[in-house]
Amino acid sequence: MMAPAATALGFELRVLAEGPDVSAVSAVAQAPLGDYKDLEALREFAQGVDVLTFDHEHVPGEHLRELLASGVNVQPGPDALIHAQDKLVMRAAIDRLDLPNPAWAEVATVEDLVAFGDKTGWPVVLKTPRGGYDGKGVRIVSSPAEAAQTQDWFDVMSPLLAEAKVEFSRELSALVARTPDGEARAWPVVHTIQVDGVCDEVIAPALHIPIEVAAAAEEAALRIAHELEVTGVMAVELFETPGVGYGFLINELAMRPHNTGHWTQDGCVTSQFEQHLRAVLNLPLGATDLLGPIVVMKNFLGGANQDLFSAFPAALAAEPGAKVHCYGKSVRPGRKIGHVNLVGQSPDEVDDVRRRAGMVAGIIRDGRATAATGQDAQVHQQNSEETP
Ligand code: ADP
Repeated sequence: MMAPAATALGFELRVLAEGPDVSAVSAVAQAPLGDYKDLEALREFAQGVDVLTFDHEHVPGEHLRELLASGVNVQPGPDALIHAQDKLVMRAAIDRLDLPNPAWAEVATVEDLVAFGDKTGWPVVLKTPRGGYDGKGVRIVSSPAEAAQTQDWFDVMSPLLAEAKVEFSRELSALVARTPDGEARAWPVVHTIQVDGVCDEVIAPALHIPIEVAAAAEEAALRIAHELEVTGVMAVELFETPGVGYGFLINELAMRPHNTGHWTQDGCVTSQFEQHLRAVLNLPLGATDLLGPIVVMKNFLGGANQDLFSAFPAALAAEPGAKVHCYGKSVRPGRKIGHVNLVGQSPDEVDDVRRRAGMVAGIIRDGRATAATGQDAQVHQQNSEETP
């Protein structure tokens, strides 16, 4: 999704692809295959680039240090990136910055976990500090008896991160971008809806958020970016906790264009993908104004429909204002395979905008018009089934 922004600015984007079937291979002209955990592959790949950046956070920090030492311009650098790679490092940094964390502890054994739960109250949330995504690596532990069943995790990785289970009213995301010279800009704080630990929907801006809470969240994200010397786009995921902390607690950091920022592609003057390129190249940042008073992003996961394109006639007819983004991934149940963005004309219409974006996503996922789509979509869908 960074490719269209690079093309528009006339930049050549080169992607180190994990395999021939990853989405990036079809999106950019130069996508050599290689293992991002292999230093030699990284060295070869980095030859001649103006800047090296990421669309995930799993490139080993020690390799990035080697690249830096040999003169490669790595943005964000490994000292910043570690806070998105390791949740224990991140929690300690948030404490150092005196920003609001949930109660947390580093736990090396089941006994440590039980002691933490007994102190803060059950249930608690147990997390693998590294390698988690989409809720994988997050486990709710309800009691000391359940804690005894977590030995399998400690056998694989120790220490782990234990957190108090936060009673939040909703989840929020504060998205910012920063250049190496320190210019930074924020997008408005958004409301994110997770289903089974996976981002399902984003509403931009977050509605009915107290103005001081939104301002404090934006300020916290910008401060984190400055203090940790983050470059490029960073998402700060937050739990809204009315009356506790600043009205929010910090969940985690992502240092790259993020799912909670996909709405910016069609709902904002500068998309997060363009902003990321501008930021890592130390260019002036773009405006972050919205293109309408309300924007909804709805993800679709792999479902019944294996042939996404077959659903396009119905999906696109159902909502001409919707912008569909398909990732070109093979369809597997529960895998994120695309999203829909839709700009609405008034915050009062948010429920309707959500319904319409959800309808388009649902048609593509299920390959048929659902009850909510109405007659027209069903007629189009029947037609499309006749077309190979
Ligand atoms: P990942 O790195 O997989 O995205 P997160 O740490 O963001 O993992 O957790 C995934 C989801 O689990 C969150 O979006 C939130 O819904 C829930 N969650 C995580 N930590 C807590 C917590 N301390 N209290 C309550 N819910 C939590």
